[in-house]
Amino acid sequence: MSGRTPVVPDSTTQRAILRVLVQNEPISRVDIGRLTGLSPASVTETVSTLITDNWAYVSGEDVSTGGRRPELLRFNRTRYAYVVTAVHPHRIHAVLLNLDPKPLHALHRAFQSPENALDTLFSTLEELLEWAKVQSVVVMGIAVSVPGTVEASTGTVGLSTLMDWHDLRLRDLLTERYSLPVNVENDANLAALAENRYGSGRDNESMIYITTSATGGSIVIDRAIYRGSTGAAGEIGHMSIRADGDQCACGNRGCLALYASEMALEMQVLRRLKQQIPSELHAILDSHGRYPTAQEIMVAARRGDSVATNALVAVAEALAVGIINVVNLFDIWFVVLGGSFANAGPVFIDRLNEIIADRAHRLYARAVHIVTADFRHAPELIGGLMVAFENTFGFSLKLSPAANLEAIPESIGIPGLQGEGSPAV
Ligand SMILES: [Zn+2]
Repeated sequence: MSGRTPVVPDSTTQRAILRVLVQNEPISRVDIGRLTGLSPASVTETVSTLITDNWAYVSGEDVSTGGRRPELLRFNRTRYAYVVTAVHPHRIHAVLLNLDPKPLHALHRAFQSPENALDTLFSTLEELLEWAKVQSVVVMGIAVSVPGTVEASTGTVGLSTLMDWHDLRLRDLLTERYSLPVNVENDANLAALAENRYGSGRDNESMIYITTSATGGSIVIDRAIYRGSTGAAGEIGHMSIRADGDQCACGNRGCLALYASEMALEMQVLRRLKQQIPSELHAILDSHGRYPTAQEIMVAARRGDSVATNALVAVAEALAVGIINVVNLFDIWFVVLGGSFANAGPVFIDRLNEIIADRAHRLYARAVHIVTADFRHAPELIGGLMVAFENTFGFSLKLSPAANLEAIPESIGIPGLQGEGSPAV
């Protein structure tokens, strides 16, 4: 199905050389030897194998230091690729990404109900793998982003109410079907890792990632996801911020997601519109016969509409309480805000910062620092490639100078796709 079977560099020597190559290309054999500590004979022999297996190629010559000019070697980023997939309620996006990374081919498939999700995932993967085979692209593995809790060591989806998946051994299912390495991971975790490696969190070992579309989240400690006992850690949306608040589907009361999500914003506006408070948003109801969406509310707030602004401020106030709780618990002061509210504008961000500055624990010497995510659309696709590569090779993929990660979603036709993490339940 996947065309040629990938020849994964498996010896310690091969991996050591490949690591130096990925991080320092273009590089001569002499410098590879210097950085790895390997003998010239070992470098020559292993580089020759890597060239034969299409992992490296000769690209020009270095300046001569007397005698023959040494050849410069590069990492072959174009021959190998990963299939990276994002499962969302009602749709699946799958893209074949090479190691630049650059999208080679993408598919978007809709499905009607959760019962069709798995079959749609299979058919989408099959179509993409077939395309790779025809184009002689060697597929190294599959990464799948899921809106739900995932036990990373087994690739089992613990719970995804959006997909109606419970204890689904997704990694095993896909590995058996395609005979390829498969990584299954929670969407917010992948988004967080993308920000932590390549985005606005790259200078911080530890950070809190919050995706406000549905108030999912992830906690990164020393560059790794904090998972908890069952993989459900970081589900910030189900932290209670009101002891006697509304009943949540998760069983708790007053959960953050009920007060700081797109739906919460829409409900806030709806309540004000029903009270006949003047707003430009009445026009949407009058002309389209429906209530304004979160996106429309944010646009109205940017134009100064008071109903939209007040609703957005109420959401910011609730989210601030949630952020303060997480910051106080983990003593992690760097917070990356992803999802749609990252675009909500100064009204939202300023109010958030104001409350946090006022209420965060006085013990901390450093001020809590909130930044918006670099990857606004489909960050889980970037994270998926990153995790799949790291699991194959044991080191991080350094991007090629030509790589433009932020442009990838748009280049495959999904600018409207939010990288929203979703609460598991
Ligand atoms: Zn809840």
